This record gives sequence, C-alpha cells and structure tokens, in this order.
Amino acid sequence: MAESVVRALYGKATSLNLNSKKMTDVPKCVCAIEKLSVLLLNNNSIRSLPAELPALRHLAELNLGNNALKEIPAVLGHLESLKKLYLFRNQITAVPPEVIGNSTCYVLTGRLQNLVVLNLNHNQIQRLPPEIKRYIHRSWCCVCSLSNLQHLSVLDNNLEEVPAEIGHLTKLSEINLTSNKLSWLPQQLYQCKDLTKLHVARNQLSSLPEFHLLLLRELYCEGNMLVHCQPLPSVQDAEVLTLKELVARFVLLEDRNRSSLVHRLLPHYPRLTALLARGSCCAICLGPFLTTWLECVHFINLKKDMKMKTSLTIPVRALLCSYKCFSTPGHAYYGVATREIHDH
Ligand SMILES: [Zn+2]
Repeated sequence: MAESVVRALYGKATSLNLNSKKMTDVPKCVCAIEKLSVLLLNNNSIRSLPAELPALRHLAELNLGNNALKEIPAVLGHLESLKKLYLFRNQITAVPPEVIGNSTCYVLTGRLQNLVVLNLNHNQIQRLPPEIKRYIHRSWCCVCSLSNLQHLSVLDNNLEEVPAEIGHLTKLSEINLTSNKLSWLPQQLYQCKDLTKLHVARNQLSSLPEFHLLLLRELYCEGNMLVHCQPLPSVQDAEVLTLKELVARFVLLEDRNRSSLVHRLLPHYPRLTALLARGSCCAICLGPFLTTWLECVHFINLKKDMKMKTSLTIPVRALLCSYKCFSTPGHAYYGVATREIHDH
C-alpha cells in the first residue's frame, strides 16, 4: 500500500486505488496528492477519515464502500469538488446535517453542492435529513446543497420515511429506495421532473404518490402491500372538523391570495408557517387542509397510461378534504378500507 501511495505522490497521480488493502485508517500522505480526482478506498476496515482530506481540492470520486464507518464523516462536507460518493456496506445509522448542509443558516455555500451520485446502500440508516436540500422559503437566498444530485441510492437500510424535501432535488434521474421500511412516499416526488427510474420494491407501501406525472421509464414496486381494486359501496356521514382544522383551512386559503393580510403577515410567524407547510390540497376541489383528510387512491395502468412494458395496475395516493368531495359524482377516486372492516 505504502508503495502505491509513494508512486502516486511522485507521479502527481489523478487517481489512486487502495481497494482491499486491509487498512483501518487512511494514511495522511494521501491528502498530499494534490491533483487526485479519484480515490478508491473500498473493501477495507476504515473507521474514520483524516481531517486533512479537504486538501484534495480536485477530488471528484470517493469510494468508501465496504468499510467500518459508523457515521458519514463530517469532513466529507468540505470536499467541494466531490461528484460521486459511495458509502455502501458500512454501519452508518444516520446522515448528519452537517455533512449535507446546515439548515439553521440560510446563506451558506452549499456543502457537497456538486454531488451527482450518492450511494448509501446496505447501511442501517433510519432517517434522511430534510437538509438534503436547504429549505427555500419565499425570498430567502437559495443556495442549495445537493441540487445537482442525479443518482441517490439508499437500498437496504432501515428508512421509515423520505422527507418531503426530496422534491427539491430536481435533477434526480434515479432513486433507489429498495428494501427499506417505507409505508408511504411524499407527494412532492412529482417535483423531481427528471426522474426516469424509481426503485421502491420490498417496502410496506399501500399506494404510490403521483408518479404518473413523471416521465418514468422504469418502476420497480414488487414486494409491497399495494391496495387492490375491489370496489365496495359505502355511505358516509359528513364529518365534524375540529376548530383547529377549520382555522387552518381558512388561513391556508387566505394565504393563497397574495394581497391578503394573512399572506403578508405569515412570514412573521415562522412556527406557524412551518406547521402550515404540512398542509396539502384536495384532489377534487383543490381546497387546502391540514390534518384531516380522506385517504383515497386512483389506479394507473403502467402499459395503458404510461406506455411501459408491464401492464401492472398501481394505486396512486390521493387525499380528499371531505366526504362531501368524496360523494361528488364523476371522479375515479376510491376510499381505502381494510378487508376486516367490511367482514363485520
Ligand atoms: Zn375537496
């Protein structure tokens, strides 16, 4: 190993392959190979990275797959030229925000802003930070981390949810969420306009968000609990909304009007704004709601509706604001019910 480092150092190498060298640490002298753009450190037992690593200002590809990292080293957040980062088969449990970007600071250079490929397969990650892209609100400066990301792979982790901010990664073309514990996906996924490959197989999904609005070429969703289309008649009484929900709906509606007092004053109440950001809108009347909705699906046939090769029928999640909208004739939304309820 020392030999290859010395050779690389003298030869002003642009790539260095230290794959399978039984290393537990990265030799500091690696950080002196100034022109290095590709560094392969996979298949070792590396537990941490040297603090001097950011000296590699041209480093574009870093492979740390199959090592012994317990967390994503924060020093990676300072590798400004990094485009491809491989961290598969480690023992990572969390993605610290300081690697991705600091959400408390709005005007900062985005960390890892040039990253195109991020591979976190086969770890134990439970949660992706919402800071995968800095939250932009109204006129705040939009310096975005990971805004160039095209491939995100988190296969075989313990992810229970994907943050809504995934929708800000507008250059994503492939996302692999296979073999996690996802029971739902954020509806903001449709904002990833360049997405062509979506892997969500082997999760706990009962429906998908509006993937049919994307120009998907490949969708892998086997091994989930997708609802089947077996319609049953149902009559529902009108629901009684809580005062909180009624007020929230009023404020959300007022906020749509740019000249309203509510719209102009809301930015002065950041906690309220954050709370209302969780609101959504009705698939039928487009009216806003916050915490009370009716879970529905409509069905998309991959072959007929999206010109894909398979003719699978996939349930797409849709939320309705009320039974009043649900009872309106002429729509294709079905309420979701479990079989047990109807067997009583
Ligand atoms: Zn409605």
